[in-house]
Formats: sequence, C-alpha cells, structure tokens
Amino acid sequence: MVKETGYYDLLGVKPNATPDELKKAYRKLALKYHPDKNPNEGEKFKAISQAYEVLADPKKRDLYDRGGEQAIKEGGVASEMHNPMDIFDMFFGGGRRGRSGPPKGKDVVHQIKVTLEELYNGSTRKLSLQKNIICPKCEGRGGKAGSVEKCANCRGTGMQTRIQQLAPGFMQQIQSVCVECQGQGEKIAAKDRCKECQGKKIIREKKILEIHVDKGMKDGQQIRFSGEGDQEPGLEPGDIVVILDESEHPVFRRIHSDLTMKMEINLTEALCGFQKTIKTLDDRCLVITSLPGEVIKHDEMKSILNEGMPFYKNPMEKGRLIVHFQVKFPENNWITGEKLVELEKLLPHRVESIIPDHAEECVLHKFDPATNRAGMNGRQGEAYDSDDESSGHHGGQRVQCASQ
Ligand SMILES: [Zn+2]
Ligand SMILES: [Zn+2]
Repeated sequence: MVKETGYYDLLGVKPNATPDELKKAYRKLALKYHPDKNPNEGEKFKAISQAYEVLADPKKRDLYDRGGEQAIKEGGVASEMHNPMDIFDMFFGGGRRGRSGPPKGKDVVHQIKVTLEELYNGSTRKLSLQKNIICPKCEGRGGKAGSVEKCANCRGTGMQTRIQQLAPGFMQQIQSVCVECQGQGEKIAAKDRCKECQGKKIIREKKILEIHVDKGMKDGQQIRFSGEGDQEPGLEPGDIVVILDESEHPVFRRIHSDLTMKMEINLTEALCGFQKTIKTLDDRCLVITSLPGEVIKHDEMKSILNEGMPFYKNPMEKGRLIVHFQVKFPENNWITGEKLVELEKLLPHRVESIIPDHAEECVLHKFDPATNRAGMNGRQGEAYDSDDESSGHHGGQRVQCASQ
C-alpha cells in the first residue's frame, strides 16, 4: 500500500501503474497543459512534471510510496528537481543545449490519435496547422530593402540608459527598453513598412503535413519533420514532432508485437468443441476450431502465430494473436430433476467427502471482494469462515486419514 496517492492522482493513474502507463499519462497531460497550448496552466504543468519526475525514477518512486511528498522534500529530492521544460524536452527528445551550429528555434509538438487498424495496416494522415514563416515579401527585413535604419536613440542595442540623480553627488544608471524602437534596435519609416507583415518580419501560414503512419508503429512513437517548426529571423527553425496516440480498440489489446483478445465460449463449447471466427484488423476472417474431445478451461489462453501486430520496418513478420477464453457457465437451475441426474452420469465422478458427526453446517454467501475491502473487518472474518467449505473438506480428509 502506498502512503499517499497525490502524484498518481495528478497523472490520473493507479498506484500500481506500469512505467509505460506513467509515460502515456505524462505524455497526454504534458501536451495538454504545455504553456504553448495552455498559458494559464503553468502551475498544473509544473505539478505534472514534478509528479512524473518522481514516479519515473524507481528509487524516488519507492521513496514516495513509503513516505509520501514529505519524504520527497526531506530526502533532498525536491531540491534537485528539474525545470518542467527540461523534463518535457528530455521526454520529447527536444532540448538543444550543448549543440553546435546556429541557434535553433524550439520544436513544436503535436499529438494525433490513431486507431489500432491504422497502426496495423499503415495509413497516411494529414495534419493541418498554423506556423510562423519569414515574410516572403520583405524577406524578413520588415520593410523595403534599404529602408531599415539602425535606431539612433539606442544605437541599435534596443536598450536605453538614463542617468538619474538621486541626491547631489549620487547618480544612478537606469536601463530600460528603448522607447523609440520598442527594443527592436532598428526603425522603419511607416511608409516603407512591409504591407504583408506590418513590419513584424514573420507571417502566419497554414501548412498541411502529410504523416505516414507505417505498419507496426506504436503508441507514443514520434515522427519528426526536421526544420518545419516556426521560423524566426536569425534562428534556424526547430522541428515539428508528431506523436502517435493509440486509441483503445474494442476487441484487441496490443502488448508489444502481440495482440490479445477475450473470447467468450459457453460450457458446451468448452467441453464439446466449437468453431469461431475472428475478424482481423485488415478485415480478413480467421476461423479457429476446438475439436470435439478438446477441453478449453476458463481463463485458458491459446495463440495464433503470425496474426499479431506487424513488426515496424519488417511488416511481413508479425507477432502472435492470443485468444483468452472466458467460459460462460449456465445460470442457476438451468437443469433440474431427472435431467440433472442424467447429466451427472455423463460428467466426471464427484469426489465424496466424509462428513464427521461434529461438523458444523455453514451457509455460503455471495462474496464480493470490493465491498469487503471497504473496512468491514468483522464481516471479512465471516467471509473467510464461509470459505469453510474447504476447511470442512480438509476436516473430512483428516477423518478419512484417521479412519484408514
Ligand atoms: Zn514583410
Ligand atoms: Zn532604439
């Protein structure tokens, strides 16, 4: 049991979440609350990053599970926390510190929902987005060629200094943004200003990206469009990063390259065989057979080779399709009287237990683990008592042993 669940709640996962589930949860929330998309949710973005940073590290997670947020603070972990933007960059593979070459603009991350069918068959998706480009009319100058002048007020620095006398003999230098050029360092006469961008040097442009979802790609996979990020004068544009977000499928669940599915069969089918069909993700129809005489037990799993997910970059090879059988038993009193006697004759012989004279008669109640956990300690004992069927059974065996 964990001490508190605050960090898990922030990410919307259960305390037993796997590293993959944590990653997925962080990915969704970080993209949703990123200051680029949601400028008013800075605190939330920070909290999510902090929770993820702790839970993604097995040591820190263990510390948190045992001692909660208090332990994180006291354990000195909080002081070495990363900046939320750094965590985001590390996660999404951005982060350009230490890189040589011209300064680069930041990456823009987009997430698109894809179905399991798309990941199985491959697909081409179009993503329509708005981005900043250098104004083509003025080529990023902001005005006619030769019309851009260095600001005389600040000599092109964008900052102006003013000397202020505080008291006789006491002077103070005050720096502020140049009022003449608003910190641009340059000026364009209103008549020469570019009509296209109003002197801003960049314009918004609609762009459609074609995204190739290849067979076998997986949830969270990134597709990078190098240099397609926002353009800005003096900066090499960053990338557009598209992240695939797999939607849940009603039938199949993917585990690495395998697909799993549940299949309900009834008791007759479990005991006497069956033929069933499965519709694949590329719309083929598979037929599976359990021969008469074969018994499928409840919860049993069988696999079909080469019907799982295609391997990325090697799509002729596929994983397994794992069928998880759920045997549906008949309801109470579905058969009674004479027929029940007949049925018993066909079924395996029952194991007789010897009931000693002093055995105590108990009632079997329906048992619901959920209601039991909710603090009904008194009743829990009772529930285990009603499990007496087995202990009574053991009692019976003891008598058997004793009598032998
Ligand atoms: Zn322009
Ligand atoms: Zn100026």
